[in-house]
Amino acid sequence: MTIKIDENTRVWLNGELLDADTARISHLTHTFHYGLGAFEGIRSYDVGPGEGAVFRLDAHIKRLLDSCHLVTIGPAVRWSHQELAAASVQTLQANGLASGYIRPVIYIADGAMGVGARENPIHGMIAAWEWGAYLGEEGLTQGVDTMISSYNRPGHSSVMSKGKLCGQYINSILAKREALAGGFAEAILLNEQGYVTEASGENLFIVKNGTVITPPLGMNILAGITRETVMLIARDLGIEVAERAFARDELYLADEVFMTGTAAEVTPVRSVDRRDIGQGSRGPVTEKLQTAYFDIVQGRNPAYEHWLTRYKI
Ligand code: PMP
Repeated sequence: MTIKIDENTRVWLNGELLDADTARISHLTHTFHYGLGAFEGIRSYDVGPGEGAVFRLDAHIKRLLDSCHLVTIGPAVRWSHQELAAASVQTLQANGLASGYIRPVIYIADGAMGVGARENPIHGMIAAWEWGAYLGEEGLTQGVDTMISSYNRPGHSSVMSKGKLCGQYINSILAKREALAGGFAEAILLNEQGYVTEASGENLFIVKNGTVITPPLGMNILAGITRETVMLIARDLGIEVAERAFARDELYLADEVFMTGTAAEVTPVRSVDRRDIGQGSRGPVTEKLQTAYFDIVQGRNPAYEHWLTRYKI
């Protein structure tokens, strides 16, 4: 989907809301060349007339600043947690979005061009746009077809998966492009030992005999906020949850498989490597969790109101 940029588009750049033509960045932006930067993906939902609600804004801003800390740019970030959270909401409002996707990026600006460039200023950008179901509306109800990627997730001694870091996404992009070229909606990546990690932009769950199982955080996966949300919802619904490693055989033999992410929300997986999962359609546990998730993010469950940052448009 092409994101529309027009004369009404507003971009937050280093503390100012600018129109898209003014919000230009230097061709010598260090992050553009080498990829060291941190970003987030946050969603807001329409929760009533002229009202939106950002889902788990604080958790996302915290992860953004944690990502900066991991890659040594943390001390040079000029905005506080509260300022970045407020700027995210302002960007939605400036773009007239009651529901939207928010993309903050903290990056190394121009200055020196050696890879170290420790003196270059750290800049911040926040964009927002309307974004429907990441893996398609049909995917949410019918499930999507996936493949195990020929690319592995890089190991702990090479990268830091707990950071949502710009350059680290080369691995995801290659896996996703390979999957799309093969006619699949998404790629699932193994680690070097053959254990299932996550998909190119989602965490992964299997359901077996009523238990919801997902790889543990000690593995090289992103600590997904939707992953954590779904685990809490499952426990609140009385569904057993386990965090443990599993390989591709358990994946193929699962009763249900689903993926979680801010963009993909809760998306069922109906096949992996052309093998049907369960009945080859969305399973009952997935549907239950998906319904509960949408009720929460769309403001219909007061018990989870503390996860919503409501704002007016
Ligand atoms: N893993 C990867 C690699 C991702 O890019 C994402 C999307 N941010 C996720 C998992 C899901 O994370 P979250 O639920 O916080 O969006």
